Amino acid sequence: MNDMSDDPQALDQIAAQRAQTHQTRRATVPAMEERLYTPHPVLDHGFVRVVDYMGDDSAIVQAARVSYGAGTKKARNDEGLIRYLMRHWHSTPFEMCELKLHVKLPVFVARQWIRHRTANVNEYSARYSILDREFYIPDPAHLAAQSTANNQGRGEVLHGDEAARVLEILKADSTRAYDNYEAMLSQDGQQGLARELARMNLPANIYTQWYWKVDLHNLFHFLRLRADAHAQYEIRAYADAICEMVRDWVPAAYAAFEDYRLNSVQISGKGLNALRRMLAGEEMDAEKAGMSAGEWREFEGILEK
Ligand SMILES: Cc1cc2nc3c(=O)[nH]c(=O)nc-3n(C[C@H](O)[C@H](O)[C@H](O)COP(=O)(O)OP(=O)(O)OC[C@H]3O[C@@H](n4cnc5c(N)ncnc54)[C@H](O)[C@@H]3O)c2cc1C
Repeated sequence: MNDMSDDPQALDQIAAQRAQTHQTRRATVPAMEERLYTPHPVLDHGFVRVVDYMGDDSAIVQAARVSYGAGTKKARNDEGLIRYLMRHWHSTPFEMCELKLHVKLPVFVARQWIRHRTANVNEYSARYSILDREFYIPDPAHLAAQSTANNQGRGEVLHGDEAARVLEILKADSTRAYDNYEAMLSQDGQQGLARELARMNLPANIYTQWYWKVDLHNLFHFLRLRADAHAQYEIRAYADAICEMVRDWVPAAYAAFEDYRLNSVQISGKGLNALRRMLAGEEMDAEKAGMSAGEWREFEGILEK
């Protein structure tokens, strides 16, 4: 199963949800109405889908104008005000918008995701229900060797035979673990182990699901860290999908986020000083800039981008 598309019960449920309409005086966003409930496939069996949302670009502006007063209306248009808020880290107006997602993701991705403490989460209970036989098996294009430059990353993609060997191990281990899970749960002529205990032999590439609700400010923080090149590919795939949703939902806020956060860089005081000296024509290096070799490498990397 990939995006619920071969689960008739799930498809019926989605169709029923999408067939219902409600009258409201609240702001709605046509592109989000279109997205509501439909799963967006991510990885081999995962998805992310919008279950609900609150607010739009105007909700941010409306909240900001409470603090700045009506005077700002003349001075800035809505888009300009949103850019100003983002630029100056005036973050609370962004908290006026909320997004509720249903996510299906491998457990090892969930472990990274759950570190973002500012969301509300409700996860599928493997004490109450039996987990599906669904494991994340990476596409060969994403099977890479340990990076030699970065202890926390991957390097070159594995070659043919090596990729096949690794895939075989991943598949065999997942199958064996799930077979044993079922064998332990089985009450066929035996007592059978409780679900809350039998799950402990399942590997971290099994899929789980949760509802995840977060405000836009904290969602931007999550996306800044997880849609970044330093984030692991698997969580980044989800973050990239959510970026598309947020772009549809609050286009002005997303554009400001993209400009001031996602595509921006942070330069230290030493970096700024070095940059000014370089602009004045001075030849600079790590020592002159007062930086470590690693810091200088990163600084040069920023300038080369
Ligand atoms: C590339 C990358 C590599 C990572 N590597 C590791 C690793 O090796 N090991 C590891 O353990 N983690 C690792 N992490 C996780 C990282 O350290 C953070 O825990 C995670 O990104 C969540 O960030 P956050 O705390 O800012 O987010 P959130 O929990 O969403 O918090 C948002 C903000 O709210 C505030 N906040 C929330 N809760 C508190 C609190 N209790 N006290 C004070 N302030 C709070 C902080 O300002 C925080 O920045 C990694 C993350 C990334 C992106």
